[in-house]
Amino acid sequence: MPTYHYDSLVNAMHDCRNNDETPSAVRLSLTQLATVEPVHVDQTPAPAPAHIRTARTMMDSHGRVIRDLRISITDRCNFRCVYCMEPDVQFAPRQSLLSPDEIVRIARIAEGLGVRKIRLTGGEPTLHPRLTEIIQGIRSATSVEIAMITNGSLLTRALLRQWKNAGLQRITISIDSMRADRFAQITRSTSSPDAVLAGLEMCLTEGLTPFKMNAVLIRGWNDDEAADLAALARRYDLQMRFIEYMPLDSGHTWDTTKWVSAAETRAQIEKRFPLIACEDDEVSSTARTFAFADGAPGRIGFIAPVSNPFCGACSRLRLTADGKVRPCLFSRREWNLLEIVRAGADDDAIANFLIDATWTKQPGHGILSPEFKQPQRPMSAIGG
Ligand code: SAM
Ligand code: SF4
Repeated sequence: MPTYHYDSLVNAMHDCRNNDETPSAVRLSLTQLATVEPVHVDQTPAPAPAHIRTARTMMDSHGRVIRDLRISITDRCNFRCVYCMEPDVQFAPRQSLLSPDEIVRIARIAEGLGVRKIRLTGGEPTLHPRLTEIIQGIRSATSVEIAMITNGSLLTRALLRQWKNAGLQRITISIDSMRADRFAQITRSTSSPDAVLAGLEMCLTEGLTPFKMNAVLIRGWNDDEAADLAALARRYDLQMRFIEYMPLDSGHTWDTTKWVSAAETRAQIEKRFPLIACEDDEVSSTARTFAFADGAPGRIGFIAPVSNPFCGACSRLRLTADGKVRPCLFSRREWNLLEIVRAGADDDAIANFLIDATWTKQPGHGILSPEFKQPQRPMSAIGG
């Protein structure tokens, strides 16, 4: 029987949000413990070329411009999804996490450099005890679109109203199974599909739309549920997106036998619901979307970073909860923004740092190439 670090798990939940909705226990079904490796952090990027700095735009050396900033506001989570986070995951020390003021300041500076959309993520962002303040701060300081992605297990009508009034415009909810037993096994939590769907229904009635849901299919776990999950799009008139499983699990157990391609998922769905390609996807969008051929409401989206990388049109930059700038999900280098922020850097120096870090963005990830190496940070510590 393996040993689990229950203390870190339970503390994380209680630390983050001490209220009645904090789950009282987490059920674990671990088969493999993760090896935690140190993250390699470079302090400061070399200056980008002078004309790039002068343009005050975050453009990388391949000509891509950043419009979309993903900010992870916590690396803590009340789930331990098998494809993301091991039960004994090590969290960043609390004092190294960006404060709400620091997050808002960086968001404001990023908007000045061309960012148009900010997505709050984690870990589980709804665990953050000052989430409303963060949304409110970004709303007051910027006019960017504010979106959030959540596992949907801790939503209440009161919280949704608070966040919406503070300025939140969109929510994406993740759900990987419609079957209670599997949901518990995949998320290693005591939550359920019913709890997540209750959260989804509240989002819809509170007007947090247009609405998206995400699912990750893993062979042998839930790859037979594509059509059942697709049916949610029809039932609720939303976009159900299937993300190919990427090598970003903290257990480092991803291998090519486990991911399910978008093509295979689409074929599974089309056995029940024939699809028609939509022609209105934005170029930089991660998802290729499809409507139902029978005219039913809702859409299906496929996010295929493994089988069909969309790196060439990438407009995203990531800020981790501990203040590191990651130009790519798969970056094996990251830049320590926290340090300069806490050393008293002025806005101009922070802007230059973001411009310089963006310049280092790699052309692509090459997941299926023999040279590919999984980054040390798992998805939960990057922010998806
Ligand atoms: N906790 C929130 C949630 O689950 O929605 C937000 C953070 S989570 C890291 C963001 C998204 O990343 C989720 O939709 C999740 O399914 C996805 N994700 C996590 N690990 C992944 C992996 N290894 N491959 C593909 N998607 C992954
Ligand atoms: Fe938590 Fe989201 Fe990762 Fe699942 S995918 S462990 S809910 S951060």
